[in-house]
Amino acid sequence: MSELQKTFSIIKPDAVSTGKAGKIISLLEDSGFRIVGLRMTKLSQSQAEGFYAVHSERPFYRSLVTFMTEGPVIVMALEREDAVKKLREVMGATNPANAAEGTVRKLYAESIERNAIHGSDAPETAADELQYFFTAIELNQL
Ligand code: ATP
Ligand code: MG
Repeated sequence: MSELQKTFSIIKPDAVSTGKAGKIISLLEDSGFRIVGLRMTKLSQSQAEGFYAVHSERPFYRSLVTFMTEGPVIVMALEREDAVKKLREVMGATNPANAAEGTVRKLYAESIERNAIHGSDAPETAADELQYFFTAIELNQL
């Protein structure tokens, strides 16, 4: 039996501003995730730059940082078995045009950039990203 695992997710500004946050949270809960941490926040430019630093040399980096800072986001710590991999499945492909039926991005993403949701891509990234947004005290309570 596989262990419970935590992962990190962001409901991005496009989905929050168009009123899709509740539907996305419901879909995640219906997919077996338990919400163990959740906060609405607005990313500063330096927070968004740091969060997506791995993409700093990509042509879409400046536009991505502008998008991620345009309005409120919801940051979440999610728990289930095999959480990192399962969240990526439920999210769907980065480009909604390639996302499978029933995935968050197929249902709610507007474009390859404005794609509704972020999810950590590996257990190590999940640990880093959880620490980026939640304090040690919060994480110990999760
Ligand atoms: P995320 O890291 O947000 O969960 P992902 O892992 O599916 O998404 P990445 O390749 O890590 O995709 O890209 C990070 C984000 O950058 C994407 O989710 C999207 O918002 C944006 N992005 C990726 N590729 C492009 C592109 N070609 N043009 C515009 N924006 C892009
Ligand atoms: Mg990614």
